Amino acid sequence: MKASVARFFALFLCVSLLFPGVIVRAARAGEPARAPRVALTFDDGPHPGRTKRILALLDRYAVKATFFILGCNAEYYPEPLQMAVEGGHEIEDHSFDHKTKGKSVEELENSIAKTAAIIERASGRSPRYFRPPEGKSTLELDRALEALGYDAVFWTVDSRDWTGKPADAIARDVLKTVRDGDILLFHDYTCPGENTLHALEKIIPELLSRGYRFVTVEEMFSVSKN
Ligand SMILES: [Zn+2]
Repeated sequence: MKASVARFFALFLCVSLLFPGVIVRAARAGEPARAPRVALTFDDGPHPGRTKRILALLDRYAVKATFFILGCNAEYYPEPLQMAVEGGHEIEDHSFDHKTKGKSVEELENSIAKTAAIIERASGRSPRYFRPPEGKSTLELDRALEALGYDAVFWTVDSRDWTGKPADAIARDVLKTVRDGDILLFHDYTCPGENTLHALEKIIPELLSRGYRFVTVEEMFSVSKN
């Protein structure tokens, strides 16, 4: 008897490893279908023009997003940050000045905490997530994040808007790649022109028509843990 149970679990394990989707689908059979979700994220802002235009577009479709801000830009441009807060968007930390290379744990903690203080003043909420500048993690950064109780958040789809890629190409490639649970990377400060905005003018309505629900990073992770 014990041998057959062991054989069953061995088989289950093999099937799980080879065809994980089969097991997940089988386990969820009978549950109501959940809408696919996607998180829009914007790095490096706020910017006095670009952030506001992106916020207006998000508002038009009643879509919420997550902004990973730089403290130095928020000090210069408090108004678009306040608009993002009032629009119900999530504000998270991207360091004070985008400089993390070669910094000590203490310097990184200061950079992150200084930005957190700006976010707290603007929104009354403490950031929980940190996006490492350029997606680069270091031992010092990991230690600083652990000390401050942050989770590092990267992305699953890079729009590459920061390269100056044309809006049509950004939209085409994102729409071809995107899947349920993706975190999409855009920028509301550093990219040239309005490519990000024009790409989003295509991406958002198309994903809505495909049945996607736009969630913030916090919502994405809290649902994933359930
Ligand atoms: Zn950045």
